[in-house]
Amino acid sequence: MFVRVALDHPLPTLFDYRCDTPEAAVPGTLVSVPFGKRHVVGLVCEVATQSEVPAERLRAVSGVCTACPPVSTQWLGLAAFAADYYQRGLGEVALPALPQALRDASRWSRLFAPQERYRLTPEGRAALPDALPVRATALRKLAQALAESDFLLAADARALHPKALAALDTWQAAGWVALDVIEAAAMPAATTLPGADAPAPTLPTLTDEQANAVEAIRDADGFAPFLLHGVTGSGKTEVYLRALAEILAAKPDAQALVLVPEINLTPQFEAAFRARFAALDDTAIVTLHSGLAEGERARNWFAAHTGRARIVLGTRLAVLASLPQLAIIVVDEEHDPAYKQQEGLRYSARDLAIYRAKQLGVPVVLGSATPSLESWWQADQGRYKRLTLSRRAVADAVLPTVRLIDLEDERRRGRASVEGLSGPLIAALKMRLERGEQSLVFLNRRGYAPQLACDACGWVAGCPRCSAYVVLHKPERALRCHHCGWESRIPRSCPECGNVDIAPMGRGTQRVEETLASAVPGARVLRIDADSTRRKGSAQALFSDVHAGEVDILVGTQMIAKGHDFQRVSLVGVLNADTALFSHDFRASERLFAQLMQVSGRAGRAGLPGEVLVQTRYPRHALYHALGRHDYVGFANATLAERRDAHLPPFVYQAMLRAEGRTLEAALAFLQQAAAELVHIPAAERVTVYDAVPLTIVKVMHVHRAQLLIESASRAALQATLRAWQPLLRGLKGVLRWNLEVDPLDI
Ligand code: ADP
Ligand code: ZN
Ligand code: ZN
Repeated sequence: MFVRVALDHPLPTLFDYRCDTPEAAVPGTLVSVPFGKRHVVGLVCEVATQSEVPAERLRAVSGVCTACPPVSTQWLGLAAFAADYYQRGLGEVALPALPQALRDASRWSRLFAPQERYRLTPEGRAALPDALPVRATALRKLAQALAESDFLLAADARALHPKALAALDTWQAAGWVALDVIEAAAMPAATTLPGADAPAPTLPTLTDEQANAVEAIRDADGFAPFLLHGVTGSGKTEVYLRALAEILAAKPDAQALVLVPEINLTPQFEAAFRARFAALDDTAIVTLHSGLAEGERARNWFAAHTGRARIVLGTRLAVLASLPQLAIIVVDEEHDPAYKQQEGLRYSARDLAIYRAKQLGVPVVLGSATPSLESWWQADQGRYKRLTLSRRAVADAVLPTVRLIDLEDERRRGRASVEGLSGPLIAALKMRLERGEQSLVFLNRRGYAPQLACDACGWVAGCPRCSAYVVLHKPERALRCHHCGWESRIPRSCPECGNVDIAPMGRGTQRVEETLASAVPGARVLRIDADSTRRKGSAQALFSDVHAGEVDILVGTQMIAKGHDFQRVSLVGVLNADTALFSHDFRASERLFAQLMQVSGRAGRAGLPGEVLVQTRYPRHALYHALGRHDYVGFANATLAERRDAHLPPFVYQAMLRAEGRTLEAALAFLQQAAAELVHIPAAERVTVYDAVPLTIVKVMHVHRAQLLIESASRAALQATLRAWQPLLRGLKGVLRWNLEVDPLDI
């Protein structure tokens, strides 16, 4: 017998192997196979009785992962769809979608071994530390570790002390410690959940709009895409919770997949889901995201794969999890660009979620206060069913008032501002401080200042490896390149002319944090951005300080804008938004509008009247007017009309070919050759080809980058062109790397 195996290899083909073990002759099985001089892990896709590879060159499967049941043929179908759609090999899609730990055959035997967890009994909690001799430090440490968390893994105990297990045995015999053995592979006892017709008394009464939405989702028959358009604070999460409860209650083994755009939002969602689904045992809800340790990610993936997990909460990578009983998918904040993977397989998790729901014939809910124009257009055409939540759910909570602060006008009138913070904004911040309410200051630029410059000669600190300025980071006392990570100390004087008066130009979050501390005396200011949350777990700690009321002013990047349900924020200040108004990227205004609606939505959620102050030089811009009226619909319709006139997505379909060369000329020449190849492809007659152009930041890490955009009004023509183009591109030389992106978001 022969098997055709998908390997993580750029050749878009399956690889044939002889198969002597019947366990391996099942599609979806993980196997280890010889490849060149190595052994690699692959996925059996087909079983055959013949092979075209000559017998003497055929090698045999060398190992089978018996610990992990095969993935379903439906899952293989999903991977095959993604591979075809995004122009990759099946193995390049399927294998990276598996947890890293599973792709290492040497770990298979240990990966899903039962987990031994020790926990203190109430007797042990009362007796233990005191019963130990004072000088038994190792034992005391062990007792402390047990007391500090819910359980201690046997492996972790052993790491604390080589004889820990013997001590734990003794304590178990004394009744102080209990041992739980958790089987990773065991199926959970089917749990029936109470349906929504029997709501527990503590649940909020749904608003009429929420109730309609839940009902529509519950009654969906087969594939049903919903666009849940709900203003910020309208209780979209409550709709997800109720819809899931209904669907999971109806079928005792059904599974749900809930996607969130950012790792930082998973703790908040996890807590809400665990509280609501307390009837499920705690292993029935798992998270999947890149912040998990490898072992934990593998176990969580496995729980989803075996059906033990009923609810999977995760970031974009979770859309490719194996979920044999998947019955509903939720994509929260569906407009968020974070759903698009930016390297490797450049997939859109939202789009794959739609495909997956269609493949399985289940409902999929896309939720947002500012849906992507792609999804809004689908709803306009009746392909998605629109569900609307037009008001905030909490009684008395209304949308915040938006006020534009005209910076030109402030200047003309000679009104004082402090380091870019206008008088009215500072006054509003002080007022919130007096009232004991929280404020949020948003600007999308981290670091202290985006440039360090010399007034005397015009020198600006740049990256030696990139065509970009370096950002001044004051607390770290460094200049940093945000494109390649290059770092240096801050020079004392201008390296060109020796002038000692070099000065930061522009403002980032660190500088605003510093200014706020002096401009609003007595305020406790906290900054949340990629720099202040670099350590694992620190973002969550910082956010809980905000929730606990230990912060008066929170300053940060879009990390603070998304999804968080802040209870005491009544003021939002927006700085530096104007730069995105005049971008060359046609999606910049859509993105800016969504960000500003999101960040505005953090104000006034719990009934405090909320206010949003936007500092701008263009107070008459249509985008700000729509923001002031909370008019997503007006903005979306006007922008869609512009896109239609300009023949832009969603009215055409695009793909981007990017090339990286040692010189810009090499990258451009490659793209020009690539464009010339299109004449050999019949389907390309219906495809428009643009000129090859350098990227805005043309050089990163000494590599020059250029791109070529192609588009078509016909999705089929575009896909057919891409399919025929790939092999031709592989024949071209002269660049370091190239990649093809379907439905690019950054143009
Ligand atoms: P969204 O995700 O739409 O911005 P959330 O789901 O965060 O909104 O809900 C906003 C707030 O409204 C939360 O504090 C939530 O507990 C509350 N909430 C949701 N539904 C109801 C309801 N029906 N009655 C009262 N409060 C509600
Ligand atoms: Zn100088
Ligand atoms: Zn750089």
